[in-house]
Amino acid sequence: MKASLGKFRFLLFLSVILSASSLMAQKVREQQAGPGEKMVPTGDGQAIAVPAGPIGQAVVTGNGINYNGGPVLHNTVPIYIVWYGNWNGTGSNTQTTVNLIDTFIGGLSNSGYEKINSTYGDTTANVSGAMTLVKQVFDTGSQGTRLRNSKISAAISAQLTSGGLPTDPNGVYLFLSSSNVKESGFCRQFCGFHTHQTLNGADIKWAFIGNVDQCPSGCEIQATGPNSTAGSGGGADGMANVIGHETEEAISDPDLNAWFDSSGNENADKCNFRFGTTQTASNGAQFNQTLGGKNWMIQMNWENSRGGGCDQTLGGTFF
Ligand SMILES: [Zn+2]
Repeated sequence: MKASLGKFRFLLFLSVILSASSLMAQKVREQQAGPGEKMVPTGDGQAIAVPAGPIGQAVVTGNGINYNGGPVLHNTVPIYIVWYGNWNGTGSNTQTTVNLIDTFIGGLSNSGYEKINSTYGDTTANVSGAMTLVKQVFDTGSQGTRLRNSKISAAISAQLTSGGLPTDPNGVYLFLSSSNVKESGFCRQFCGFHTHQTLNGADIKWAFIGNVDQCPSGCEIQATGPNSTAGSGGGADGMANVIGHETEEAISDPDLNAWFDSSGNENADKCNFRFGTTQTASNGAQFNQTLGGKNWMIQMNWENSRGGGCDQTLGGTFF
């Protein structure tokens, strides 16, 4: 466990370096992150309204993360999933994982955990903390088993133009690949990422999350998760953790120009692979959340109030 934690920090370090060199939005971040801005207390932390801020007064700063002027996603956020590769396979590449992730997303919506995200807003309104899985489709491999960003874009774009998925600039598209699919950087530099780009004429927010059973030592906190069955591996549980991370960021920083700190870290990055207090499930796995009637081991998120900190639920203990 300690060795794994060391590797997670290493991964985080690498991801910061990577983001500084390869993310399209990094220039915007570097230009707009004011020096010392995050350290200036405004006193607004006490005034933040939860779960939703008042219209027009939604931007609260001074909690260790900066607002850079861009929009957040409001209201109930539609979630769309492309299950890519072979999800009728072995291990955790199965319908069981599909069902678990669907349950997880349903459980996230309006949970105390997801309400942490409602401390982020723009000049219109705050994030709601609600989301709903609208539609999911399966792509058994239209772009092959060695992916790079342009191939993921092409696969998502194909869904939009064919009508397989709606073209929705207010939604988040999760591209989830089975463990036989390689993606450049996945498992070596990151466990997932999110971005945005114009697809089918709209500003589409999408995230890539691979089946982390491809690299349990780097991207899973434990080989057996609370929902793992014998022989399945911890993939579904490990993916849920990364999906939580990327979804929070895609909602609070959808165009990569809203919420991140002066180092370029978005809210979930500031709590990367940090879990707080945990309990032990019946199969011996650790968990720290119960969502959708199941236990999960999900990293904390950065709360933009009370001075800022990582917690497991809005208003909860900072760890
Ligand atoms: Zn992140």
